[in-house]
Amino acid sequence: MKNNSNKIQKINKILIDHFGIPKRQNPLPNPLDTLVATILSQNTNDNNSYKAFNNLKNAFSSWEEVAQAKRSTIERLIKVAGLAPAKSKAIKNLLVKLQNNSPKLSLDFLQEFSNEEAINKLTEFGGVGVKTASCVLLFSLNRDVCPVDTHVHRVLNRLGIVKTKTPEKTFWQINQNFPDRIAHSFHTNLILLGREICTPTKPKCKICPLQKICNYQEKNFEDKSSSAKKRILLLDNIGI
Ligand code: SF4
Repeated sequence: MKNNSNKIQKINKILIDHFGIPKRQNPLPNPLDTLVATILSQNTNDNNSYKAFNNLKNAFSSWEEVAQAKRSTIERLIKVAGLAPAKSKAIKNLLVKLQNNSPKLSLDFLQEFSNEEAINKLTEFGGVGVKTASCVLLFSLNRDVCPVDTHVHRVLNRLGIVKTKTPEKTFWQINQNFPDRIAHSFHTNLILLGREICTPTKPKCKICPLQKICNYQEKNFEDKSSSAKKRILLLDNIGI
């Protein structure tokens, strides 16, 4: 793992040279906001999940109010994010479950737990997987945890950091002992790389800053320049 840790730090430096240090919200978003936003972000893009999150926040004055709302109302408000029946069920269930423990809804109790314990607690809620749980740890609890989505999983396999079949396996492998204080920049910049350069098909290896240290056997050197897209990164932009 030490070897991987060195490689991760090297990749992080190269990505910061290329993309810069990603901005963080200050103060960090509260864990419940991050959990709901991450549920909304499943299988859609950040623009749509951002709209759905704001629809919820604008329609209600607190998560306690959302917990009391009809599921059909939640479903209508988050429709833009897709999979609204499943997402509204997950959100309503998690808020009601939390309210059974305490009328004031909060995930602050997670502060007392280790990373693994906090992930186990969060994944007890229906509709919350390891990726969603690990986003709460990174974005709101400021833990040294790197969530693994499909982009992070693909790029780390191509680079040769892991050799895994699923994002969840990649997550447990790289997070056994993740280097201190770089998880946010590493995770965020790797997603940018995966979206803009190391795309699922025809990666733009010619312009990739990691080209020299990448093990991928099927590099693509067709002459394509990177298109400048507007970048919205949901979990660094959810309002409080
Ligand atoms: S060199 Fe190509 S395959 Fe390797 S990380 Fe960069 S874009 Fe992806």
